[in-house]
Amino acid sequence: MDHIITLNSGSSSLKFGLFAAGGADPILICSGEVERIGSPDARISATTTDGRVLADTSSEVLRDQASALDYILDLFERQFPSARVAAVGHRIVHGGPDNDQPILLTPDSLRMLEQLEPFAPLHQPYNLHGARAAMERFPEAKQVACFDTAFHRHHPWVNDTFALPTEYYDMGVRRYGFHGLSYDYISDHLAKTAPLIHGGRVVVAHLGNGASMCAMIGGRSVGSSMGFSAMDGLPMGTRCGQLDPGVVLYLMDQQGMNADEISDLLYRKSGLLGLSGMTNDMRTLEASDTPGARNAINYFTFRIRRELGALAAVLGGLDAVVFTGGIGENSTYIRDRICTDMGWLGVELDHDANADNGRVISTDLSRVKLMVIPTNEELVIARAAAANAA
Ligand code: ADP
Repeated sequence: MDHIITLNSGSSSLKFGLFAAGGADPILICSGEVERIGSPDARISATTTDGRVLADTSSEVLRDQASALDYILDLFERQFPSARVAAVGHRIVHGGPDNDQPILLTPDSLRMLEQLEPFAPLHQPYNLHGARAAMERFPEAKQVACFDTAFHRHHPWVNDTFALPTEYYDMGVRRYGFHGLSYDYISDHLAKTAPLIHGGRVVVAHLGNGASMCAMIGGRSVGSSMGFSAMDGLPMGTRCGQLDPGVVLYLMDQQGMNADEISDLLYRKSGLLGLSGMTNDMRTLEASDTPGARNAINYFTFRIRRELGALAAVLGGLDAVVFTGGIGENSTYIRDRICTDMGWLGVELDHDANADNGRVISTDLSRVKLMVIPTNEELVIARAAAANAA
């Protein structure tokens, strides 16, 4: 039987999945993660969908992406000797202004994607490094790049541009939007399970360690809280979210910070971590009664509510809000804080359904349907890889 591998390569981590292809949808067999690649305490974990732990161990051989891939492949060969890898699907953060679909990785398309590295310097080089390692390791398999930007590529121009001289737009300084694989999954799920909602005006809130919101009409993105980089919009675990560009100029000119220091501040030390002075983990913040933890939650929910109003205006009204991502799927408290006193927008939370983590958490009388849908980005990648393997 043909199999699909999905890979999500970060700077020091590699998330992977093994799927059986052939049916209507690829079926997940096993998934896992290699963490802290290159450090002495690198670690791999892998579990089958029926709960068998295949690996949960530290290993010195996990010194780079290629050796981590070798390790995973050896594990697959031992555990699933009849598996034939027909395609490998890669999560690639940036597909540039033109790619609205997954593409096959070839030497030419890899070169095109390398040219986008300056647009996403903290992600794209590592994504492509993983892709190159997989191309070497599985030369017979189709390699498919799935982009976080692709789902947003049909934004109207006003949602795609900044008010800079037009040559900057032409050189690629645009609002790309990210988390597209998650929004793609939600859109497809709505089409299959709630077609009327899918056809309407929907805001999806992907609230995880990274967080953004997407406005959809008829299942297509027309606006996103994220812009040129995966830093804009909502505050995140360690990223600042929307920031006046004057702050960056001030940090450079008056505080003498260079680009690396500012990048470190805005990507790794801000957001929930920076505001709380404590942690980027929402569960820990919810359990804490320090002023910092309260401030972080207050700012997080304030910005989500503000963005919800803005995206409802972009849509010209609102039929549904979908919560997803680690916080959106699990945090009763944060969903409650977001939806409280939103009656003016037609939002009425059913507190009991919310407390029970129900799939629909609005009251019967709520004009806007509130839904919780667990996202599945790996499945979107596996589907694209399977479609291209055929
Ligand atoms: P990533 O963006 O890295 O994929 P996730 O989508 O896994 O992140 O989300 C991680 C966040 O979800 C963390 O802040 C975590 O604390 C939060 N989270 C997970 N479960 C809960 C819960 N039950 N209540 C509140 N927050 C939760």
